[in-house]
Amino acid sequence: MAAKSVKPTCSCKATEKPVDLGFVEEAESAESLLSYRFPSKVGGRPAWLALDNIPGVESVSCRSCGKSCVLLLQVYCPDDNSTNCFHRSVFVFVCRESKCYQTDSTSYFRVFRSQLPRNNLFYSDQPPVVQIASGEWKETDGEFPKRSAADFNKLCIICGGLGPKACAKCKVASYCSKEHQKLDWRVHKQECVKGLKEISDRSSSSALFPEFKLITETEECDVIDDENDAEEVKYEEINRQSEQQSGESFLSGELENMALSESEEDKVFQKFKCKIDRDPDQVLRYQKGGEPLWVSSKHIPSPDDIPACSCGAKRQFEFQVIIYSSQLLNHLGVDNLGESLDWGTLAVYTCAVNCDIGDSYAEEFLWKQDFHQDTR
Ligand SMILES: [Zn+2]
Ligand SMILES: [Zn+2]
Ligand SMILES: [Zn+2]
Ligand SMILES: [Zn+2]
Repeated sequence: MAAKSVKPTCSCKATEKPVDLGFVEEAESAESLLSYRFPSKVGGRPAWLALDNIPGVESVSCRSCGKSCVLLLQVYCPDDNSTNCFHRSVFVFVCRESKCYQTDSTSYFRVFRSQLPRNNLFYSDQPPVVQIASGEWKETDGEFPKRSAADFNKLCIICGGLGPKACAKCKVASYCSKEHQKLDWRVHKQECVKGLKEISDRSSSSALFPEFKLITETEECDVIDDENDAEEVKYEEINRQSEQQSGESFLSGELENMALSESEEDKVFQKFKCKIDRDPDQVLRYQKGGEPLWVSSKHIPSPDDIPACSCGAKRQFEFQVIIYSSQLLNHLGVDNLGESLDWGTLAVYTCAVNCDIGDSYAEEFLWKQDFHQDTR
């Protein structure tokens, strides 16, 4: 396509909803990522929002291998339009077994939504300073109770999920599963024989992803100028024409189809690359009710592919995790583990009406688009 300029132009228009980009940063303290600080974060244990009724072991286990999933990331994203969502967080969990990582399969992810009104059982109605997903800061002061899910549940000392299985000897250490107990035995053995009542910190457990703060900033995108706009229109026009000219096309049959699919693939990938290249460190794109930025023209969900919420309302796109950017892979430290997290992007869809779930957790939906080999 001769009309395409060398430097790809963004196809974003001024009318598009702004996108909030998430970046990974070293946390100032471990404390800043605890539940009562309402963090957005990558890795570590979940900072559960509703502290009671956290999802059961079954709910957070991999549908492929049955093992417990661990936290990939959580996003604090209150919704001012809903009094139920004064606090609101979405959690993405993933299995650590690389054998479960199958192309186009999402059976090894679990996604949950939790939301609370301003007056709730767990937190002060004057929470500390927090940054919400739109990048704004909510400022408050005053005393607030520093509660955690451990005050309400027995938690697995490895993954921070429910831990209904206790060490048979000391009954102090609790676990979600045999796997996490086994994994912990070398460390716990020392505590167990000494009869320690306090369990030491396991936050650097190899079962977890390294923990980082996730900060957000609104994406600044140049609106395409007239010249580029014209170019874009021209490019689309050429595509449309060649689609219509089925009989008298300048390319024929298979070759034409190939050229068409190539240009569609190119277009999608160029758009993706263009947006990523502008902020190459982005690991998250948050645009509730918007459109995901697809890596490829293949395996894009149709509206029918996104199941409705159990309340009957539609689910809408809320955010996507950018895996293509090796930034996140570096932070997760998976390169050294031989895990292939070559996922392209993970798009998270949540109930469009934030249906009331009290202080429990609602499972939401994730679509994975793999980074197809031929896109490289
Ligand atoms: Zn698995
Ligand atoms: Zn566990
Ligand atoms: Zn023990
Ligand atoms: Zn719903």
